[in-house]
Amino acid sequence: MTAIDYQAFYDRSVSDPDAFWAEQAQLIDWHHPFEQVCDASRPPFVRWFAGGTTNLCHNAVDRHVATRGDDRALIWSSSEVDREEIYTFAQLHREVQIMAAVLQSAGVKQGDRVLIYMPMIPQAAFAMLACARLGAIHSVVFGGFASHALANRIDDAEPVLVISADAGSRGGKVVPYKPLLDEALRLCSHPPRQVLMVDRGLSPFELQPGRDLDYAQLREAHRDAQVPCVWLPSEAISYTLYTSGTTGRPKGVQRDTGGYAVALAASVRHIFDGRPGETFFSTSDIGWVVGHSYIVYGPLIAGMSTIMYEGLPTRPDAAVWWHLVERHQVTVMFSAPTAIRVLKKQDPALLQRHDLRSLRNLFLAGEPLDEPTARWIAEALGKPIIDNYWQTETGWPILTLARGLSSGTPKFGSPGVPMYGYKVQLVDEQTGAVLDGANQKGLLVIDGPLPPGCMQTVWRDDERFVRTYWSSVPDRQVYSTFDWAVRDEEGYYFILGRSDDVINVAGHRLGTREIEECIAGHPAVAEVAVVGVADALKGQVALAFAVLRDPAKAATQELALALEGDILKKVDQELGAVARPARVRLVAALPKTRSGKLLRRALQAVAEGRETGDLSTMEDPVALEQLKAQLAAGG
Ligand code: ATP
Ligand code: MG
Repeated sequence: MTAIDYQAFYDRSVSDPDAFWAEQAQLIDWHHPFEQVCDASRPPFVRWFAGGTTNLCHNAVDRHVATRGDDRALIWSSSEVDREEIYTFAQLHREVQIMAAVLQSAGVKQGDRVLIYMPMIPQAAFAMLACARLGAIHSVVFGGFASHALANRIDDAEPVLVISADAGSRGGKVVPYKPLLDEALRLCSHPPRQVLMVDRGLSPFELQPGRDLDYAQLREAHRDAQVPCVWLPSEAISYTLYTSGTTGRPKGVQRDTGGYAVALAASVRHIFDGRPGETFFSTSDIGWVVGHSYIVYGPLIAGMSTIMYEGLPTRPDAAVWWHLVERHQVTVMFSAPTAIRVLKKQDPALLQRHDLRSLRNLFLAGEPLDEPTARWIAEALGKPIIDNYWQTETGWPILTLARGLSSGTPKFGSPGVPMYGYKVQLVDEQTGAVLDGANQKGLLVIDGPLPPGCMQTVWRDDERFVRTYWSSVPDRQVYSTFDWAVRDEEGYYFILGRSDDVINVAGHRLGTREIEECIAGHPAVAEVAVVGVADALKGQVALAFAVLRDPAKAATQELALALEGDILKKVDQELGAVARPARVRLVAALPKTRSGKLLRRALQAVAEGRETGDLSTMEDPVALEQLKAQLAAGG
C-alpha cells in the first residue's frame, strides 16, 4: 500500500467508523456476534461492539491451538538467571488452564479483581491470561514498586487475591518481593483474602498460614485441569492499570474486552507489520501498558510468538537484545528511547555483531525520541526506526506510521501521522479553536468517541474521567492528551512536550522539548532535561540539566564552564537567544519514573526550592538527592 492508500484507509475510519471497525472486528473470534458497532449514546463514554461476547484469552491462546498448536507462543528469556523457557500455543493453553483452575480453587470469580505483583517470569503471563479466561479483572503492579505504592494500588483495586513471587532480579542482584508485599498488606485497608506465591527459588520466604498459597503445590493438584473460557460481553472490564505518574498522582485506566482485542489485532497487523508465525520482541515490562498490549495480548492474539525478557539491555553485554533478535528471528521489535540512550553509551560495534536480517522495523515509544538518538540507532542498526506516540489511556498508538499498510517515510523527530480511528486535532488551549494551518502549535486532542481499545473510564471514578480528560477546552468536549504538538505541511506531527512543560519566557511560549532536542545534539551530551523555573524578571527561565557521555569532559571547573558556554552557543545559534537556558547544570544522573521517563516536575521543584510532591513512581531517589546536594553546593 502506498502512502496515498493509507490516507484513504484513515479517511474511511473516521467517515464511516461503523463499517471500518466492523471489518477490523473480523480479525478476532466472537462467541456471539455484536449487534451494534459503536454505541456512543452517552458521550464521552462509548461501548464498542455492543451485544457481542468474546474472550481475550480465547483469542490469544485457544483459537491458535488447532492451527498452530506446536508454534512457539511464549519465549521467556532471562539474562538475570541465565535461562530460557519456550511454550508452544498448546503448552501455553495447558499452563493457562492450570493457572485458571488454581485461581478458581482460591475462589476467584468473574468480575473479581486479582492484583499481579510479579517479576518478568512466565507465570506472570499465565496469570494475566488466566484472569482474562475467567473474566476476572487483573491489575498488574510493576514489580519495582515498594510497599507504599503497592498498598495504595491494593486499596484502589480491592482484589480478592494477590499473585506474587519470592523475588525479582536486577543486574544480577536478587530483589525479594515477599517482604515488600507483606509490608504492603499490613499497610493497606483492603487486604485480599489470599496470596498466591510462585517460588522461583531465589529468596526463601514463609507462607502465612490461612492466607498464602503455594503455586507449585496447587499446580500439581490441577495439572490436568480443563477450564473453559467465560464468554464476556464486549464491554466487560478486562483490566485496570495505572499511568506512569510523570505529572502527578497516577490515574487508574480501565479497559474493556472486545474493543481492546480488535484494536490490538488490527494494530499488530497494520501498524507493527507483524504476521502470524513471526516473532514480536517488546523490551518493556508487564507492569506497563506496552507490556499488556505488546508483550502479552497483541502478539498472541495475532498468532505471533512473543519474547518476554527479564534483564538489562547491557548484561551480559550490550549485544544481548540483538542476540535474541537473531536467535528467534524477530521481525517486530519495540523499545523505548530511554533504553536506546543507555545503549548509546556503549560501543556501536556490539549492535553489529548479530545477523539482524529478520528485523523489519524498530518501534520506539514512551518519551520524545530526540533526533540525535534516532539517527544514532538508525545508523547502528541499518533499520527503519519508527517513533510512536501514545498513552496508557489509549492502549495503542495515536501517532506513528502504519508499517503494515503504507510506505510513508519516517521523519526524524516526528512520530508520524494520526492512526486510523483517531480524530486528532490541534487546538488553542485558551479559545478551543481548531488550528487547521500548518506549523501552528497547539494542544493535542482527540475528538470523540475514542476508537476501540482506549480507556473506558477511570476505574471507579467516571467523574474524574470526564473532569480530567474531557474538560480542557472551552465549549467543546474533546479528549485531551495533555501534550503539545505542531503539524507540518505534510501532515506529520511533532510532539513539543507536555502542556505543563511549555514555558513562558518574557512572553514567549517555548516547548522545553525543543530546547532539549537542540542540546541533545551536542556531541558531549548523553541526556538532557530542560525545565522552566520561576524568575522574578522574566516570569520563567529555562534551566538545563545535562548528563555527559564522558564525565571527564567536565573534570575541572574550567572545562565545565567552557562546555556550558559551548552548549549555550548552540542553543543561541539554532533556536535564538530567547530559548537560551539560564544555566546548563552538568549532573551525574537525571531523576526518572520507574518506566524511564524524565521527572521534570521533580527537577523543577528542586530548582525552585519547593517540596517535590508525590515521588512514589520515582526510579532512583539517589539521583535526585545528588542533584539537590550539587545545586546547594552551587555546582
Ligand atoms: P501520568 O499521566 O501519570 O503523568 P505518563 O503520562 O508519563 O504519566 P504514560 O501513559 O506512560 O504516563 O505516558 C504517556 C505520555 O508519554 C504521553 O502523554 C507523552 O507525554 C509521552 N510520550 C509517549 N510516547 C511519546 C513519543 N513517542 N513522543 C513524545 N512523547 C511521548
Ligand atoms: Mg499521562
